[in-house]
Amino acid sequence: MNMPKPQPGIMDINLYVGGASHVDGVADVLKLSSNENPWGPPPAAVQAIKDTAGDLHRYPSTDHADLRAAIGRVHDLDPDHIICGVGSDEIITFLCQAYAGPGDEVIYTEHGFSMYKISARAASATPVCVEETDRRVDVDKIIAGITDRTRLIFIANPANPTGTFIPMDDVTRLADAVPAHVILVLDGAYAEFADGYDGGAALVRDRSNVVMTRTFSKLYGLGGLRVGWGYAPRAIIDVLNRVRGPFNLSVPALAAAQAAISDTAFTAHMLAENATARDQLRADLAACGVPSDVSDANFVLARFKDHQQADACNDHLMAQGILVRKVGGYGLPNCLRMTVGRPQDCKRLTDAVAQFMEGQS
Ligand SMILES: *Cc1c(COP(=O)(O)O)cnc(C)c1O
Repeated sequence: MNMPKPQPGIMDINLYVGGASHVDGVADVLKLSSNENPWGPPPAAVQAIKDTAGDLHRYPSTDHADLRAAIGRVHDLDPDHIICGVGSDEIITFLCQAYAGPGDEVIYTEHGFSMYKISARAASATPVCVEETDRRVDVDKIIAGITDRTRLIFIANPANPTGTFIPMDDVTRLADAVPAHVILVLDGAYAEFADGYDGGAALVRDRSNVVMTRTFSKLYGLGGLRVGWGYAPRAIIDVLNRVRGPFNLSVPALAAAQAAISDTAFTAHMLAENATARDQLRADLAACGVPSDVSDANFVLARFKDHQQADACNDHLMAQGILVRKVGGYGLPNCLRMTVGRPQDCKRLTDAVAQFMEGQS
């Protein structure tokens, strides 16, 4: 029968698997599976949404000028080089849609975020996986993987789900080696959590083919609202704006994101809470025999003996209503990714892991 056919690559997409959010029969669920801010959204953002309720009959602005100006102020960036999207996922989508097509290659790394592969396939391009070294993005292997067909390279720094961070020297070396026809995308979803890191903004400013993406979903506690942004050379912004829907961000989303980024005291407080709780979480896991790499993000990748032990620990946690993330789909079947919660959340988590580990060996 003659059927409508999707574009090449679409049916090869494996659907994105989000973090679990409920457990049957458990009321007091602790969700540490999606790297959300455990403290909730910024109160200023909640108020801003309430304040927009009477304006919902109006279309939002198409140029996001106020939000871009606020982002520019806080990060000391030129607002004309900023584009806002429905999460940074949408910026990733725009990049693939605008710069990659059939026959083109999109490089991502072994344990890299799954949206890179999904968006490449959605554009009918070919995702190319480059190995990492000890759960760390390996710049030399990426450079060796570049071909005439490469159009985009995606790395997250700090990376998800590993939490590992590569120093600015390595990022710069990669940017230096990327040919002019290739765009290097620095996904900074967790950039704020890495002390002293600007997400690669200075590299973007100095070059014609480096883009940085950022999000309101993690540190800013607004994952449910869907707002992210990109910072890029003006020529790339001009391209991305052509594929962006004119009203991609709603009135409440624009208002809340602007309020959130302007509340620098809130973000400073969240960063401090995260750093303290993260160090404690790593130490408490190590004390019960569960190692993890140093994390520069708001989660920890706990390593178990093998994938059976990781699965069994996940089951044990689930039974107590604690949700963490299995990462077998990221090539890390012996690991569980655990979002840093409030101190009491981390205690509940590590008590449960300790109890599980006592039953092992
Ligand atoms: C969470 C995350 C994102 C972005 O998510 P949005 O909610 O779409 O902004 C992007 N990259 C990585 C690596 C992430 O973990």
